[in-house]
Amino acid sequence: MAWEERWHPLRREWVVISSHRNERPWHGERVADAARPLPSYVPDCYLCPGNVRSSGQQNAAYRGVYVFDNDHPCVGPAAPAVSVPPAGQGIYQTRRAAGSARVVCYTPRHDLTLAQLPESDVLSLLQALQAQYRELGALEGVRHVLVFENKGEVVGVSNPHPHCQIYATNFVFKTIELEAQAQAEYLSEHGRPLFQEILRAEVADGRRLLARRDQALSFIPYFARYPYETYVTPRDTRPSLADLDGAELIDFAAVLHETLIRLDNLWRMSFPYVMVLHQSPTDTSYPGFHFHIQIHPPLRKPGLLKYLAGPEIGGGNFLNDTAPEEKAAELQAVPSVHYKDGGEGAA
Ligand SMILES: [Zn+2]
Repeated sequence: MAWEERWHPLRREWVVISSHRNERPWHGERVADAARPLPSYVPDCYLCPGNVRSSGQQNAAYRGVYVFDNDHPCVGPAAPAVSVPPAGQGIYQTRRAAGSARVVCYTPRHDLTLAQLPESDVLSLLQALQAQYRELGALEGVRHVLVFENKGEVVGVSNPHPHCQIYATNFVFKTIELEAQAQAEYLSEHGRPLFQEILRAEVADGRRLLARRDQALSFIPYFARYPYETYVTPRDTRPSLADLDGAELIDFAAVLHETLIRLDNLWRMSFPYVMVLHQSPTDTSYPGFHFHIQIHPPLRKPGLLKYLAGPEIGGGNFLNDTAPEEKAAELQAVPSVHYKDGGEGAA
């Protein structure tokens, strides 16, 4: 039980932790995995290999990771030129939605998720994302490469084919900008990277750690805003995924994989989440920036959404009515083998 405010050093804001209000702790109830098994290939899926998309483009008969330009990009070279706002509206600014948007399919298999893929496929995906960051980050006018996966109908994704998206933009996304400022200022004031202080505190406490390898680890941070909010990070400070060397990437893939398996195993369901790679912007150097992945699951319990409401949407600060220590303990207690692959308690 916890009832206190905790400082979020990366966002430089308070999070209200109020687990005393939660009716009762989660007692092990699980969602029957009612979802019907998916076929490995779906003829009208726009992401399955060889299929024709609505744009008329045909997917390659790919066998591994497959990257293509988004047919309906939010930013892209085809964005129209813009006109200046009419006289008297000088407060408003406008500019072209330039940039690049891509889709990354993790595997030709329609029916698998990142948690269910072999670890070698997770590694291949991360290698592909390293190449994307380098390529898109080097484009003229691109300041930042945002990689994210929205997973599950509850976050609005109707197509279960495992994939993520990349937005390479002419601006730096707000959260990354906020973290970059906090980390640069901390480094200049204290001479140490901020994220190293977070890692030191998490390891010293230990209660919120989830998966560990020599060069990477995952944890629910002390200042988590969502019940199962999880960070996956290399131990050493690297500005981007592309800066991890071979050995670091192997450990990072293992930790990411184990973390996603534990999330699935908790309720024996494909765990919905928004997963974002927090990488340094590509326009200049950002001292002290520590690449990591943040996973934001929207559920508090099976079938029960954490609603963002007055404090979060209106006020801009989060209320978390769970204790990160308790949520981490739940995830530590489940097997590290996926329940569909015969992990303990598999059906
Ligand atoms: Zn598919």
